[in-house]
Amino acid sequence: MTLRRATKIVATLGPASSDPALLEQMILAGVNVVRLNFSHGSAQDHIDRAASVRAASQRAGREVAIMADLQGPKIRVGRFEQGKIQLLQGHSFILDASRTELGDLAGVGLDYKELPRDVKAGDILLLNDGLIVLRVEAVRGEEVHTTVRIGGELSNNKGINKQGGGLTAPALTAKDMDDIRTAMDFQADYVAVSFPKNATDMEMARQLCNVAAAQYRHKPGLIAKIERAEAIPHLEAILRVSDGIMVARGDLAVEVGNAAVPALQKKMIRMARAMDKVVITATQMMESMITNPVPTRAEVSDVANAVLDGTDAVMLSAETAAGKYPLETVEEVAKICAAAEAAEDSQQDATFAGRTFGRIDQSIAMGALFTAHHLGAKAIVAMTDSGATALWMSRHRIHIPIYALTPKVATQRKMAMYRNVRPLLMDTSADRDTALEQAEGHLKSRNIVQTGDVYAITCGEPMGAPGGTNMLKISRVS
Ligand code: PGA
Ligand code: MN
Repeated sequence: MTLRRATKIVATLGPASSDPALLEQMILAGVNVVRLNFSHGSAQDHIDRAASVRAASQRAGREVAIMADLQGPKIRVGRFEQGKIQLLQGHSFILDASRTELGDLAGVGLDYKELPRDVKAGDILLLNDGLIVLRVEAVRGEEVHTTVRIGGELSNNKGINKQGGGLTAPALTAKDMDDIRTAMDFQADYVAVSFPKNATDMEMARQLCNVAAAQYRHKPGLIAKIERAEAIPHLEAILRVSDGIMVARGDLAVEVGNAAVPALQKKMIRMARAMDKVVITATQMMESMITNPVPTRAEVSDVANAVLDGTDAVMLSAETAAGKYPLETVEEVAKICAAAEAAEDSQQDATFAGRTFGRIDQSIAMGALFTAHHLGAKAIVAMTDSGATALWMSRHRIHIPIYALTPKVATQRKMAMYRNVRPLLMDTSADRDTALEQAEGHLKSRNIVQTGDVYAITCGEPMGAPGGTNMLKISRVS
């Protein structure tokens, strides 16, 4: 029995979730989008994982989207002689871009050679997701001399962030460009770009995807991971050229400080929805479930609050990739989302009441929402080619479920990310009256509507032309 749930669940695949039977169970428990993390594993690993996701979703009878998450220019220290060291407060430590030998207590090499150019005396560097804090004392050639402010264990290849941002590494590395080609070969539904600084980084990623996907006539959705301080002032421009954003709280918190993140999360979710884009809230949502079978109260509240903020999806990282309880975590998140939604004020938002629309299809989508709300309709149905109608409808809070009927499996998968949209595959090539009849048959056979129920349905005439939605029909099921 699946709960009625509008918020979508993104689960990261990893060693803990690669068993095909488990993956199928996770999809049945509520995973809508599977994230392949390109920071780990070879191209072949990702190709195999994508195939296994497609097969599991087939067996489960649920289409899930695949999101390829690029590694990006994660800035890291090199490796240590002993694999790790213990940094002590007050000691000095050198980050050395020219160092070729393995690291020790005095210093370590860097895989990011530009660091000495990007920092100056007084800067604060955060290592290992902020657990270790270094203060820059001086830059001497390729060496960054620091004092340990907060010590701890530092092991091979841990990440480096600069407080307040300002590292100049470009968003797309040579590895990312290869990975985009790999992701387009298996037609990833979404590509997530790590550490973009501005809209130009996203435009570049879009071009690379377009070139790599051209032979498949595939158009992935592009997600900007907002995890750099520099990206914040450019949010609107980034959103304009992307299909969505990820509130990437892990790296973002290190750069802007933990305390700033909750307000930024609310702002990002609000902006994304207002601009008809999708938004994913990510990182440490159920962190303690990596090792425990139940979440903490704080984690439960965190997931519920992201739902109330209006996120399309909540994301699980190590919880499902490397945790002990991947399935239980998904079940838990599904329950929390459903309960938070049920508690939400069912008042339809009125943000579009005063708006004017240049597009006929968009105004039809809003008309369907308005009418369905005021009639107390059982369902809103969109016959859609690109998914745009369903996306517009889903940007407004309404408790009536939106069923999106599309003839394209790629559109069906992309819509798996949209809050409150249930994507279904249906051939819409028939003439209008036949297609409307087929749609009703489809909804009845799935017990979505029953005799006597009222629903709103949108379609375009002529049928099947993208961007052609121009009709709204209110039907009572006979
Ligand atoms: P990551 O991104 O898991 O790839 O680091 C998410 C985040 O930084 O929150
Ligand atoms: Mn990150």
